[in-house]
Parts: sequence; C-alpha cells; structure tokens
Amino acid sequence: MGLMRSLLLAGSESRWLRTQATRRAFVRRAVSRFMPGESLEDALGTAPALKEDGIGLVLTRLGESVSDAAEADAVAAHYLDALERIRATNVAAEISVKPTQLGLDIEPERCLAHLRALAGRAAALGNFLWIDMEQSRYVDATLDLTRRVRAEHANVGVCVQAYLFRTAPDVERLLPTGAGIRLVKGAYREPPEIAFPRKRDVDANYLALAYRLLADDARKAGVRAVFGTHDPRILRAIVDHAAAIGRPARAAEFHLLYGIQRAQQQRLARAGHTVRVLVSYGSYWFPWYMRRLAERPANVLFVARSLVRS
Ligand SMILES: Cc1cc2nc3c(=O)[nH]c(=O)nc-3n(C[C@H](O)[C@H](O)[C@H](O)COP(=O)(O)OP(=O)(O)OC[C@H]3O[C@@H](n4cnc5c(N)ncnc54)[C@H](O)[C@@H]3O)c2cc1C
Repeated sequence: MGLMRSLLLAGSESRWLRTQATRRAFVRRAVSRFMPGESLEDALGTAPALKEDGIGLVLTRLGESVSDAAEADAVAAHYLDALERIRATNVAAEISVKPTQLGLDIEPERCLAHLRALAGRAAALGNFLWIDMEQSRYVDATLDLTRRVRAEHANVGVCVQAYLFRTAPDVERLLPTGAGIRLVKGAYREPPEIAFPRKRDVDANYLALAYRLLADDARKAGVRAVFGTHDPRILRAIVDHAAAIGRPARAAEFHLLYGIQRAQQQRLARAGHTVRVLVSYGSYWFPWYMRRLAERPANVLFVARSLVRS
C-alpha cells in the first residue's frame, strides 16, 4: 500500500481531522465534486440528467459506526422514507446501506430487524436492497445478515471485496444462494495477513472473481452480478469476456460512483450495459471522502486547488 494511501486511510479514522475538515469551506467545495448535496432531495435531483444517459441510481446516506440505538433506528426510518420518495418521484433508484449504520455494533438483532424491514418494504415497492461491506471484522456478520434477510426476501444483494483473501471462498458459498453480488476492490485499511497488499494482485483477483460471477452456474442460480469499479482496464476485460461467452450487453451490470469517470459511465450505458451511479448524501461525509482521496491521491490536488481559490 502506498504511503499517501496509508496516510489518507489512517486520517479517515481521525475524529480530530473530521472536526477540522468539516468546518472548512474549501474542503466542502472539494467534496461537492463527489456529492451533489447533503439531502435526499439533492441526491434525487441528479436523476433526470443521469436518466437522459440511460443511467439509474443507487442512493446511500453517509454514516457508519453508529453507537446509539435511537440513531440507528432513525437511519432505518430515513431509508424507509427514501423508498417511498423514490416510488413517489418515479426515479430508477435503489438503496445501499451500511450494517454499522443500522446498529450492527450495538446489537446485531436490531440491525437484522432493520434490514428485514427495509428489504420487505423494498420488495413491496419493486425495489432492491444493497448491503455494503465494511472493515474485515464485519464480513462474517454482514454475510450472515445477508443470508438471514435473503431467507425471507429475494431482492437483496451484498458487496464483496476483491482485496480480501477470503472473498473467493465467500463467493463460492454465495453463488448457489442466488444473492445479488456487487464486486468491488475494497476501500479500507486491511493488514497483509488477510488482504492483498499489492494493487496488481487485487486487480487480478477482481478479474478472476468477475469471471466467476459471470459463469453459467451463477446465471442459472439467479445471481445478479454487479461490477463496482472505475478501472478502465478491468471494465474493458469484463465487457469483452461477457461478449465472448455470449451474454447480452444488458446482463453485464456496472455501478460507479457519482462524479467519477462520467464519460466511462456514459460509454457503458451507450453500449447497452446496465449502469447505475451510487450517489452519496448526508452530513457525515468525512471518512467516506478520505477513502475516495485514498483511491486516487491525485485528487488531493483538487482540495489544494479549492484552498487556493478560497
Ligand atoms: C458502486 C460502488 C460501491 C462500492 N461499495 C463499497 C463497499 O460496500 N465496500 C467497500 O469496501 N468499497 C466499496 N466501494 C469502493 C471500492 O472498494 C473502491 O475503493 C473504489 O471503487 C475504487 O476502486 P476502483 O475499482 O475504482 O479502482 P482503482 O484501482 O482505485 O482505480 C482505477 C481507476 O479508476 C479511477 N478512479 C478510481 N477512484 C477514483 C477517484 N476517487 N477519483 C477519480 N478517479 C478514480 C482512476 O482512473 C483510477 O486509475 C464501492 C465502489 C463502487 C463504485
């Protein structure tokens, strides 16, 4: 892992830095590149322009590591309301939630109850619930929650991280269940005992897992395979592989982050692939934004430029 990436990921966990950064107007200006605003309405407001490009949304309210039960309940209530707003505004948007935002650290059963309620309401409204994957210490619990929610509702998918050694066997266990699977590289700081330290190994594992998700047995099990990456080389390889094994363009689904690689998003949609953009909103953006900077330390320049302009 590069030094800059390490520093940014360590900084993402600093309470002091969070307090300092969120007070600075120039930081908020830099953040707006990746986030249309702090409210659900700001996030929904991106839909018309994306729709013109044939791109849908996945909405996520920023927040993690909630330690107060009432706050976790409020997050669940917010997402239930968001599902109704999505329906009322007729926007092509799904939702993606973090288990620790719904109370996983407080009481796993509480988190499960919230996930069940969200999946149930999403099912009634013809929507889909995505469950994010957080730090490695949450992987077992998150997969268990997914399995238990899916026992009652089929419209549920979970994120898996290519940087973890364990993900290949986890995927083998998930495939026969027909769960939705969103494959990403992984955004947190993980030790070399459990995660590939070198980017090239993460990339190779990503591709191996992507091909696995496109295999015939996965399709027959009803897996909804989603590729969450901006990596042009990997995107091209997946598109080529899907075509080579005779999958229609729509069957290869890609989710990218709002504000990153817009041209790539449009190109994929134009080629007939299913494309969604994950739009984040909310006031708790600091750790999330630091992880985005860590993915591409060159983006630190944008923060510096915003400072110069302030
Ligand atoms: C839809 C979606 C959902 C996600 N959900 C999770 C989750 O639940 N858990 C989790 O751990 N991680 C999640 N991630 C984050 C993911 O793990 C990676 O950290 C992130 O996607 C960056 O990796 P990459 O695959 O884009 O490739 P990288 O190797 O990081 O980047 C490849 C190329 O993409 C471009 N790029 C990447 N990031 C940026 C950026 N910030 N700014 C500008 N250009 C950039 C650059 O051109 C770069 O060279 C999610 C990502 C997406 C897209």
